[in-house]
Amino acid sequence: MIKTAVYPGSFDPVTNGHLDIIKRACNIFDRLIVAVLVNPNKRPLFGADERVKMLKTVLKGNRNVHVDCFEGLLVDYLRKKKINVVIRGLRAVSDLEYEFQIGHINRSLYPRVETVFLMPSEKYVYLTASIVREVSALGGDMRSFVPGHVARTLKIKFRK
Ligand code: ADP
Repeated sequence: MIKTAVYPGSFDPVTNGHLDIIKRACNIFDRLIVAVLVNPNKRPLFGADERVKMLKTVLKGNRNVHVDCFEGLLVDYLRKKKINVVIRGLRAVSDLEYEFQIGHINRSLYPRVETVFLMPSEKYVYLTASIVREVSALGGDMRSFVPGHVARTLKIKFRK
């Protein structure tokens, strides 16, 4: 039986921390769907299409990883796809409270769901997509924190 997991998130944009979690998840599961959350109440830096495109570019060649996007409840997406495993990254204890909250809510909405928490390499524990957006907006070079393709896309986005 092929075991598939879903890694949901905003990925606005995808960072090396996300990629570290994707690599670890691929060592456990046969197939991974990286699912970009489309949230109409949020104003992301990159539109859903752009986020999906960036992920597809940086994950090209990983045959077990698929990129998709979804709107609405994660549990509805999981049911539709017939998948019951969710991957989340845990950077530090500070992530735990929020992750527990959504993990338990997801389980109460869909009792079969299991959330698997993975720890990134310590070099990524302080890395968030929001810090990447903030520093890039001020002209900072993000090449150590995001894949080259994403660093170039950020540069173009903030070109004055
Ligand atoms: P962020 O929290 O950076 O804005 P997302 O909303 O896209 O990113 O997060 C999706 C998932 O990836 C969450 O489980 C989050 O904890 C995890 N994640 C984000 N950045 C990292 C990182 N540097 N290391 C490990 N996990 C991460």
